Amino acid sequence: MGKVSEITCIICPLACRVSLAVDGEGHIIKVTNFQCKKGKEYAVAEFRSSRRVLTTTVIVENSRHAMLPVRTNSAMPRENLFDCMDYLARVRVEPPLKSGEVIVRNILNTGSDIITTQELID
Ligand code: SF4
Repeated sequence: MGKVSEITCIICPLACRVSLAVDGEGHIIKVTNFQCKKGKEYAVAEFRSSRRVLTTTVIVENSRHAMLPVRTNSAMPRENLFDCMDYLARVRVEPPLKSGEVIVRNILNTGSDIITTQELID
């Protein structure tokens, strides 16, 4: 028994809602509701391997700031996001830190580093 997944194309402001008919084994059978080739390719790639940049905050110690915003330096598979959030909930940082400094290298072997998005002076 197949199913239909819908993915909103984000390549241009038209935001077509591309439909993908998928068989019981997860193979794409048919793609519809796109208005150009780029959108079809985007929806297929997004369905097969959805990747996201993780943005969150970590706890700061010995500072007048409580939290520091951080993000991955590259997009990671969406299925890794929650495990990485759990891991980062246990991370503690202290000043001084520059913006863009790596605080966790290759988090959970995803190939992405966690970097600061803001300077932490004191
Ligand atoms: S499918 Fe094409 S026309 Fe539609 S949103 Fe994507 S890029 Fe734009």
